[in-house]
Amino acid sequence: MSTTAEPPVPNKPPLESQTTVGNYFVSNYPPFSFWKKEDVHEISTAMDRAPKNDTPLGVYCHIPFCRKRCHFCYFRVYTDKDSSAIKSYLDAMLSELEIYSKKPFIGGRKPSFVYFGGGTPSYLSSSQLHHLTEGMKSLLPWDEIKEVTFECEPGTLTEQKLRTIHEIGVTRLSLGVENFDDHILEINGRAHRGGEIDRAYGFAKEIGFEQINIDLIAGMLEETEANWQACVSKAIEMGPDSITIYQMEVPYNTTIYKRMKQEGKLAAPVADWETKRRWTDYAYNELEKNGYTVTSAYTAVKDSSRVTFEYRDQLWAGADLLSVGVASFGHIGGTHYQNHHDFDPYIEQLNEGSLPIYRALTPSDDERLIREFILQLKLGSVSLKYFTEKFGTNPAERFAEPLQRISDWGFLQIEGDSVNINREGLLQVDRLLHEFFLPEHRNARYA
Ligand code: SF4
Repeated sequence: MSTTAEPPVPNKPPLESQTTVGNYFVSNYPPFSFWKKEDVHEISTAMDRAPKNDTPLGVYCHIPFCRKRCHFCYFRVYTDKDSSAIKSYLDAMLSELEIYSKKPFIGGRKPSFVYFGGGTPSYLSSSQLHHLTEGMKSLLPWDEIKEVTFECEPGTLTEQKLRTIHEIGVTRLSLGVENFDDHILEINGRAHRGGEIDRAYGFAKEIGFEQINIDLIAGMLEETEANWQACVSKAIEMGPDSITIYQMEVPYNTTIYKRMKQEGKLAAPVADWETKRRWTDYAYNELEKNGYTVTSAYTAVKDSSRVTFEYRDQLWAGADLLSVGVASFGHIGGTHYQNHHDFDPYIEQLNEGSLPIYRALTPSDDERLIREFILQLKLGSVSLKYFTEKFGTNPAERFAEPLQRISDWGFLQIEGDSVNINREGLLQVDRLLHEFFLPEHRNARYA
C-alpha cells in the first residue's frame, strides 16, 4: 500500500508527556556519575599548576542549612544543626579556603565573583555572616569583585539581616519565591509564605541592592493554570531586575519520589512537560510585553544592558570555580571536583588539615569543548568563531550531526557565525543537549 505521508525525521526524540523520576537539568559535563574517587589525585596536580593566562577565578560557598526540607528538594540539606554546629561548619569552610589560597593555581588572582548557594545562605545569622565573609576576604580579597550573589529563603529575612547582607558586599540578592500562593507553598513543603515574600522584597528594595532576582518554579504540586498566571502577574507587578524560572523536575532522593515509590507510581503528581513548557512560554511572553528580555533558557531580565550574570557567563566560559562546603562542586585548572557530602566527615577531614575532596574528573579537550558548547547553548545563541579560536575546532564540523538533527526537528538554525536555538528549543534545551554527549555519557544518571 502506498502512502503520501512524509517520512518521519529520523531519531526524533519522543515528546515526553508525564514527569517521571530523574534529573532533567544539565548543569555540567561529563555527568557527575563519571567523576571518580580514584581520580582525586588529579585535582591535587591541577592545584599545583599556575593558572593559564587570563582564566578568571570565582568562589562558590555552600551553606547546607534550611528551616525545612522542601518536598522537591534533592540537595543534601540539614534542618537540625544548632549554632555551635554551624560555627564549626563555617570555620571548616574557612580552613578549606585557607588551604586553597596558598596553592599555586591561585597565582595572585583575586576572585571576580562569589556565589553563596545552598541550602539557604540566609539561614545564617548576621554575626555568622560577618564572621564568614570577613574570614573569606582576609584570605582572598574582594577588591576586584564584579558580583556577589546570595540565595535567600524569604522567611529568613528580617530588615536587619538584609542590611547585613548588603553591608558584606552582596550585589545580587536572589529570592527563592517559587510561588506566591500559601497553599501551594505549604503543599510543596516550603518554609515561607506569601506575606514573608512581600515583606522581604519591600525591605530589599528600600535598602537598594544592585540587583534583585526572584526564582519561580513552573509545575509545583497542585499548580494550576490560574495559579501560574497569577504568579506571573504578581512577579511582573513586583518588577525585580531578573526572574528565573525552572520547570519542576522530580529527581531521586526527593520526598515526592519517595511517595511515588511507596504508591508504585511512575509519573510524578505534577504538571506534564508540555504543560510546564507552555507555562514557561506564557511567562516569557508576558515578561517581554512588560519590557523584560529573555537572556537564557531560565532567565528574563529587565534591563539587559545593566543586569549581567557574571558567575553564569564566566563559569560557562571555563572560569576556575573554587568551591568550598559540604558536597560542593568546583573546577580548577581543567579538573572537576566534588567534596564529601556528609557533614561530620567533611568537618573532620578539614580539622585534620586536608581537603575533603571526594571525587574528580579531568575532561579531555573534546569533553571541555562539549561542556562549554552545551552550557552556552542555554543562552540561546553561541558564536562558532569563539569556539574555533579557543579550541581549534569548528563546532559546525565537530557537531555537524547533532546540529543537523536538532535543526531538522525545527529547534535550531545556523546563521553566519551564530548557532541559534529558537524559543521552542530553548524551553526544552536540557533534553536537546544530550544529543551532543559522547555515546558513553548518554542515558547516564545525572547525579
Ligand atoms: S530551600 Fe532550597 S535547598 Fe532548602 S530544602 Fe528547599 S529546595 Fe532544598
